[in-house]
Amino acid sequence: MQVDTSRKVFAQPSEARINQGAGTLFALEADISARFEYRRCKPDHTSITRTKEIMETLQDLLENELQDVYSAETQLVKALPKLAKKATSESLKQAFLSHLEETVGQVARLEEIATLMGVKMTGKTCKAMEGLIKEGAEILEEEGNAAVIDAALIGAAQRVEHYEIAAYGTAKAFAEHLGLTEVADLLDATLEEESAADETLSGISLDEILPSTNSGDSEEEPQMEADEEGAEKVKSKSAKGARKKP
Ligand code: ZN
Ligand code: FE
Ligand code: FE
Ligand code: FE
Repeated sequence: MQVDTSRKVFAQPSEARINQGAGTLFALEADISARFEYRRCKPDHTSITRTKEIMETLQDLLENELQDVYSAETQLVKALPKLAKKATSESLKQAFLSHLEETVGQVARLEEIATLMGVKMTGKTCKAMEGLIKEGAEILEEEGNAAVIDAALIGAAQRVEHYEIAAYGTAKAFAEHLGLTEVADLLDATLEEESAADETLSGISLDEILPSTNSGDSEEEPQMEADEEGAEKVKSKSAKGARKKP
């Protein structure tokens, strides 16, 4: 008699089901350790191309963190020009473009670290950055008040910077702990740039963008504190919005 095993599992009494579940778990563990053995690094870390991370040592974890952030940075090199293009505020555009330049340098720094450590940076995808960029891409589709859209772009970009700050802070701490001083210094240089980029974005938002949104119940004219070109666009958009009010 042919038995559908998947149905048989559900038909068994609970204790048998638990045993079967445990058996599956043991099989899974055996499979994982087999794969772990197979993928174990050579001491110089150079001789394998990995698809799975190996985390036996802190150095392995550091390599994994670096590969993740390398993927994040290379994704950002493609995404930042789109944010710059969408931004209306000239200072925000410039901030995105100058951070793009820094980001290219950060990729180069990670490649320098790869050489120092004798490891590869490629082969991993940062899924978190994929998600953050997807959220940012939603804003690229939006139309409306230019200052409000700029504020949204800043929100998306600051999420990215905070992710990077966490990633580099972690990697730097690992490198320091491992006595990889040169690596730690390179990571610190990038960490400083990420923090500065975050602060620049906060400054642009607070000093220029938020005052230009003319939000709230005020019936007054939009404030013209922003640079002239940006402010003119904000004014015309705001006027359109105002007409829609009852
Ligand atoms: Zn390794
Ligand atoms: Fe970066
Ligand atoms: Fe990541
Ligand atoms: Fe950044």
